[in-house]
Amino acid sequence: MILVPVAALEQVCADTFARVGSTREEALRVARSLIGANLTGHDSHGVIRVPRYVDWVKSGDIVPNQTVALVVDTPSLAVVDGRYGYGQTVAPEAVRIGIEKAQAAGLSAVALRDAGHIGRIGEWAEMAAAQGLVSIHFVTASGSILVAPFGARERRLSTAPFSVGVPRDGKEPVILDFATSIVAEGKVMVASQGGKKLPDGALIGPDGEFSTDPAMLYGPYEPEGPRDGSAGPGAIRAFGEHKGSGLAFMCEILGGSLTGTRATHVGRKKFANGMFSIYVDPRRVDPAHVFDADVSAYIDFFKSAKPAKGATEVLAPGEPERRMRAERTQNGVPLTEATWNSICAKAREVGATAPAIDALGHR
Ligand code: NAD
Repeated sequence: MILVPVAALEQVCADTFARVGSTREEALRVARSLIGANLTGHDSHGVIRVPRYVDWVKSGDIVPNQTVALVVDTPSLAVVDGRYGYGQTVAPEAVRIGIEKAQAAGLSAVALRDAGHIGRIGEWAEMAAAQGLVSIHFVTASGSILVAPFGARERRLSTAPFSVGVPRDGKEPVILDFATSIVAEGKVMVASQGGKKLPDGALIGPDGEFSTDPAMLYGPYEPEGPRDGSAGPGAIRAFGEHKGSGLAFMCEILGGSLTGTRATHVGRKKFANGMFSIYVDPRRVDPAHVFDADVSAYIDFFKSAKPAKGATEVLAPGEPERRMRAERTQNGVPLTEATWNSICAKAREVGATAPAIDALGHR
C-alpha cells in the first residue's frame, strides 16, 4: 500500500482530467468527487476510476464540460438530460434543481437521464441534506449488466445503487448508500488489484457455484491492465436474497425506465447512470417540529442494542463513512501499488506532469 496525501492526489487527478478536455473547474470537481469517495472508504468509487474515465472521454462515452438540458420543468418536477456529461458535473446540476423546487414547493422529483458515471450516490444525498432536505435516490447503471437476480446464475441487473439522506439540525446527516449487489463492481476491481478481498458468495459462476474470484467477472486480467466487466463468465449476486433483488429491480425501473435512460439491457452501447430522486422538506411536513428530535432519539435507541457476537457496536447508516473521512483526511488515501501505478500511467499517457507522480514514485 502507498499512502497518498489528498493534495497530491488532487493534483494528479485534476491535471489528468484537464489534459483530456475538461476546464480546470470541472477537472477539479471530478477529482474532488472521486477523492471524496476514497475519503469515505468507498475506494471502489474513488480514484481507481481515473483510467476508465479517461478512456471513456477518449471513446466519446463521457463528454467534458457538458451542461444538463431541461426536458420537463414544472413547479415540482424536472426531467433533465445529462447528455453524457461527467456525472460529477451533471448530477449536482440535477440535484440543485431538485433542491430549489423542494424549497419552493415542499416536495419535488427529478429524473436525471443519460448521465456519465455519477460516482458515490451518497454524495448527492449529502448535498440535499446540507440544504435541510430528505432525499431518496433510485439509480440504474445502464449498459453495465453485471448482476444476477435472486434465483439466477445469469446477469440481468446493473449494480443499481440506492440512497436515502436525512438531514439533522447542527449534526452530520444520516446517509444510507449502497449498491443493490452484494458488492459494487468497483469492489471487485479493488480486489482484482490486490485490495480488500470479496466476501464469500459475492459472485456466482456459470455452473451456479458461488465464488470470490474477480476473474469470474472480468475473465483473465493483467494486474495493472484494464478490467472489462462484460468479459467474465459469471456475475455479481444481488444482495438481500429476494428482497434486495426486488429493490434492484425497482432501481432499474425508476432510475432507468422512468428517467428515459432505460433499464440496463444488452442493446445499450454507452454506459449511463439514470437517477430518479425525490426531495422532501421536513420543515414543511412537520410544522410541530417532531422530526429532528425524533430522529436523534431513534438513533440513540437503535445504537443502544446490545452488539451481536463478534461485533463491538451498532452503527447508524453513514457512520462508517464519517469516521473514515476524518481518519483519511488527516492521514492520506491508501492505494494499492497497482492502483497508484495505473493512475500514474494514465496521467503520463495524456501528458500530465504533476510533481506528485515523481515525488511518490511510480514504476
Ligand atoms: P457498502 O456495502 O459499503 O454499504 C454502504 C452502506 O452501508 C452505507 O450506508 C454505510 O453507512 C452502511 N454501513 C456499512 N457498514 C456498516 C455497519 N457496520 N453498520 C451499519 N451500517 C453500515 O457499499 P457498496 O454497496 O459497496 O456501495 C459503495 C458505493 O458505490 C456507494 O457509494 C454507491 O453509491 C456506489 N455505487 C455507485 C454506482 C454507480 O453506478 N454510480 C453503482 C453501484 C454503487
